[in-house]
Amino acid sequence: MIVVMKPGSSQQQIEHVVKLVREMGLKDHVIVGTERTVVAVIGNDRFKDRTVLETVEGVDKVVPILAPYKMASREIKKERSIVPLGAKARVGGTKVAVIAGPCSVENKAQLLETAHAVKEAGAVGLRGGAFKPRTNPYSFQGLAEKGLELLALAREETGLAVVTEVMAVDQVDLVAKYADVLQVGARNMQNFNLLNAVGESKKPVLLKRGMSATLEEFLLAAEYIMAKGNAQVMLCERGIRTYEDYCRNTLALAAVPELQRVSHLPVVVDPSQGTGKSHLVDSMYRAAVAAGADGLIIEVHNDPEHAMTDGAQSITHPQFVEMMKSIRRIATAVDREV
Ligand code: PEP
Ligand code: MN
Repeated sequence: MIVVMKPGSSQQQIEHVVKLVREMGLKDHVIVGTERTVVAVIGNDRFKDRTVLETVEGVDKVVPILAPYKMASREIKKERSIVPLGAKARVGGTKVAVIAGPCSVENKAQLLETAHAVKEAGAVGLRGGAFKPRTNPYSFQGLAEKGLELLALAREETGLAVVTEVMAVDQVDLVAKYADVLQVGARNMQNFNLLNAVGESKKPVLLKRGMSATLEEFLLAAEYIMAKGNAQVMLCERGIRTYEDYCRNTLALAAVPELQRVSHLPVVVDPSQGTGKSHLVDSMYRAAVAAGADGLIIEVHNDPEHAMTDGAQSITHPQFVEMMKSIRRIATAVDREV
């Protein structure tokens, strides 16, 4: 930011501004002009309170320097963005959108059974990976195009919007042909070529937070997509790596209000990857709605014990029915609807 002093401001007033800037842990660079003096503030001042300086005697105005993630920033667009989820649903606004389905598409019966069950219970989106980013190269890697075809079939039968991951630049056209929303996974949050490629696509993007990414890095990843012309980005908090071992990831729910404070993009929470344990998912989807999440993405399986991926964090169909009832009550309490 730049602190512009009033014409005729005193040396004492300028020194006071300098003192406050230093107290904020920032550097100052005083430029004395013929008419007025300005104090350029050097350092990352994104989260500092400008209003403190605005009220100081002798200060005319404080001009913020645009955020590094300009297009994703709330400074550029005050009203909250709404992103379409297929033809009928949206993420953002007063409703809380629920996307549910298996971690991976495994076969036709499994996907269709779960798709019908989550639709019946009130989900608006169907998740399911056809391309799976697996730590172990010998683990199930997904059904690829066959999985995408099954997702399209499930959409035809249920009307649910399809959300599925794209892992590589050369998969974008293929996945976009079948999906309503392109998911960029945590492991790819800083795959800048992929971010550029989904940015050139016309499909909305669900961008997952990298497991060691700061919120600023997360928003800069969103900025990559937006800078290529695709403004339909949803931010998804899915937990970060910490020293904790009671859960797979630590679900950072304070990221929800913070992202909404600094960005206009809708925020979706994934308590499934976010905890890794189905008995924790239950409390965390409720907490996410209470914290103001615009959407939830939940792993649901018809037979979690035999799931090919992420069974431990998948909830059953009956548990999903209970979840929908529970979050309807919580949504009402925070002036939202499901
Ligand atoms: C998933 O949604 O199944 C997944 C792999 O998510 P993440 O990229 O958040 O780990
Ligand atoms: Mn998963």
